[in-house]
Amino acid sequence: MIDFHTHSGFSYDNGPVSMDEMARAALSAGVTDLAITDHYDPFFPDMPAELDFPRYAEALARVKEKYEGRLRIAAGIELGLQPGRALELCRAAVEAYDFDFVLGSVHAVDGYGLHTYAYERSRSLLHTKIDYYTSLLACIREFDGFNVLGHLNVVDRYTPPLGQNDEVDGLIDEIFGVLISRGQGIEINTSSLRAGGPDPMPPAGRVKRFAELGGTIVTTASDAHDPRHIGTHIQNAERIAKSAGISSIAIFEKRRVSATKTL
Ligand SMILES: [Zn+2]
Ligand SMILES: [Zn+2]
Repeated sequence: MIDFHTHSGFSYDNGPVSMDEMARAALSAGVTDLAITDHYDPFFPDMPAELDFPRYAEALARVKEKYEGRLRIAAGIELGLQPGRALELCRAAVEAYDFDFVLGSVHAVDGYGLHTYAYERSRSLLHTKIDYYTSLLACIREFDGFNVLGHLNVVDRYTPPLGQNDEVDGLIDEIFGVLISRGQGIEINTSSLRAGGPDPMPPAGRVKRFAELGGTIVTTASDAHDPRHIGTHIQNAERIAKSAGISSIAIFEKRRVSATKTL
């Protein structure tokens, strides 16, 4: 089982979780390939979201070595994308450290953290969705230094459903087009299933659309902030990928697909 999105205590939104605890939890959950992807969200609104890079890199190297031969651990990072200067800092970070895997995610739009209801209150429901995808598209056009896009539709976690909308569908097709043309992928993030929702992020229909447009690179991702959540609903995500027409789940090393698990 592959879990390519997990957080340790190095993430600003997490408690004191050690990488060692995560590796042990991954082994007992039957995970064979684990990516530790702590947050780096430069200029995140209202909250310091820095990452202590030297200590982080050292801890990753240590845990990789300790579990060698038992658990493959990818040294990862989850970049919080926002237009402008934040992207320059993201670029500098991925150039300065030898990551195996880089996730690009949007957690803030127009200076609002998505997790605050201030974003939702600042505009209509339609525009909570459109502005999120527009910002995401602008970020990924400007910055290509990531392997996989994190939780494509995370805006839906914080705002009510909109229903089918041509403008949103068009923006997501454009996002997929950019990713596919550059050999980048999407993840199937199961944190929404763990929270009791009906769908992972993105839902099955979007994964199918990604495959229809020629996308092949998909990772499975618990987005666990608690070691007990590592590996949860991953088999569900695999089933969704397979029925969407995806033939394998990707594993990254040194920022390239190094292996795949055939579905
Ligand atoms: Zn995220
Ligand atoms: Zn995450």
